[in-house]
Amino acid sequence: MTVNLLGLDQDALRGFCAELGEKPYRARQLLRWIHHAGVDDFSAMTDMSRPLRERLAKSAAIAAPRVLRDTTAADGTRKWLLDVGTGNAIETVFIPETHRGTLCISSQAGCALACTFCSTGHQGFNRNLTVEEIIGQLWWASRALRSRAALGGAGFRTAQSAVDLSDHPIHGDRPISNVVMMGMGEPLANFDNVVAAMRLMLDDSAYGLSRRRVTLSTAGLVPGIDRLGEACPVALAVSLHAPNDALRDELVPINRKYPIRELLAACQRYLSRAPRDFVTFEYVMLSGVNDAVGQARELAARVSDVPCKINLIPFNPFPGVDYQRSSPDAIARFRDVLMQAGLVATVRKTRGDDIAAACGQLAGRVQDRTRRTSNRQQELSR
Ligand code: SAH
Repeated sequence: MTVNLLGLDQDALRGFCAELGEKPYRARQLLRWIHHAGVDDFSAMTDMSRPLRERLAKSAAIAAPRVLRDTTAADGTRKWLLDVGTGNAIETVFIPETHRGTLCISSQAGCALACTFCSTGHQGFNRNLTVEEIIGQLWWASRALRSRAALGGAGFRTAQSAVDLSDHPIHGDRPISNVVMMGMGEPLANFDNVVAAMRLMLDDSAYGLSRRRVTLSTAGLVPGIDRLGEACPVALAVSLHAPNDALRDELVPINRKYPIRELLAACQRYLSRAPRDFVTFEYVMLSGVNDAVGQARELAARVSDVPCKINLIPFNPFPGVDYQRSSPDAIARFRDVLMQAGLVATVRKTRGDDIAAACGQLAGRVQDRTRRTSNRQQELSR
């Protein structure tokens, strides 16, 4: 059986090299070829002997999920639909900005948490993504976004189609400066694979991102937050969305298990290990649901003990959901109340909504094993 080297971090690659009777430094060499150079063909690894390359080709492969669709929005946001087998597909989004390029990565095919305002949650859950499927999103996007010059100006072919590189905003050699684990799925519910993938993101021989530039967003799995602080502290975002348990129980059902008080305490603990000195609280703005001035005051009081920034996200609609986006006035008023209370509050710019690439619109294609759509209440009460 061939091993897919894409999902192996430096330690695992050392183990693989040892099995081949090779020195540990080969692991770093392989990481550089695979992740720096974006190579998936052992014959291109010219600093290794031909016999070694041949042995590698026999025992291993470098295989990322196949791209099914590649769409670019009017604002330059780009979305890839990637095939992860058995009828499932996941989405990855690249958001270019003047001084940074952010890749939004999925961690699961679907999601089991069933937040009422989230498109992925409405799809139900199929399975956790493997390490290679998670890091494969960054591998693929880095390759696709690399400058034309570096690729000889011609773009390259995939199994599916020719990729035209002419329309990419290029940010030097490293188009992707930040990664957010904010795509489909709950990353802390796929803890081991997400951490292994993030270790590759941070490894200097792979992507070399600083911990501050990798953000994990969670709906609030309290034990997972503690484990993350020990295993791989990166910047933390928490999907809060409500100022009290009564409303949060409804919007983010996992709150029934880990209520706000416990969640905020976990955030406090996390901060002692985090690379940043604040947690980001995400708060989706739903008209008439959580956007009243009184709720802004309640929120400000609630988080006053936690060093934080609040990111207000205008709700992005998707088919089959009744919520409305709060008006720009309501959002501005809400933000002003938070700021008057001394909090840092920003409004997230909606990007890529014309190609359903905005927050909460990622649906991919999920074969729902939980049959959530017909079984929602039972699922929530577990
Ligand atoms: N499961 C993780 C990460 C995925 S969602 C989490 O819950 O944090 C990334 C962010 O988009 C979360 O804050 C999520 O609550 C928000 N979001 C989900 N659906 C949305 C929608 N329809 N409009 C705007 N934001 C949404």
